[in-house]
Formats: sequence, C-alpha cells, structure tokens
Amino acid sequence: MQSKNDPKVTTRLPLPQPLPMHQSPRCGAKTRGSFLCRAPAMPNGRCRMHGGKSTGAPTGNQNARKHGHYGQKAIEERRELRALIQGARELVEDITGD
Ligand SMILES: [Zn+2]
Repeated sequence: MQSKNDPKVTTRLPLPQPLPMHQSPRCGAKTRGSFLCRAPAMPNGRCRMHGGKSTGAPTGNQNARKHGHYGQKAIEERRELRALIQGARELVEDITGD
C-alpha cells in the first residue's frame, strides 16, 4: 500500500488543457536561481513577492527644504528682518540728515 508521503505518489496530474489561471500573465522577475519567476503577476506586472503589492517609490522629494536654513519659513524670516533693518537705517539717515 502506498502512503501519502511516498515520493512515487504524485498529486499533480497533467491537465488535458490549461485552466484560465494557468494562462494569466506571469511575473518574469529574475530569481536567485537565474530563472524567471513563474508566479502569477499582479496588475503592475510583478507577483506578490517581486513588487506586485508595491505602489512604487514615494512621490516627490520629501526631504527637500522642510526645515533649516533653506526652509521657506527661514527664508521668509530673513527677508522680513532685512526689510526691518533697511527701514531702521533709512530712519536713522533721515534723523541725522545724511
Ligand atoms: Zn515574481
């Protein structure tokens, strides 16, 4: 009698014709074994293990100019301060008569 764990017993029977799930697009990513991945592809063309679930890289440069010397707030503060200093200089010139 053959048991379920007998290597000669196979549960994979050849199908007379491929089912629709077998005809779905494949991932095609290169695997570590240098073969192509044969897992079914998700809408973006890759399988669940090769980026199919990924929505891609974050949009925009999220690290740019959020804070610090070149942030919009800091630039605006320096601009206002420069205008204030210029106004004070003009006032002093008016008073001293230069
Ligand atoms: Zn894949």
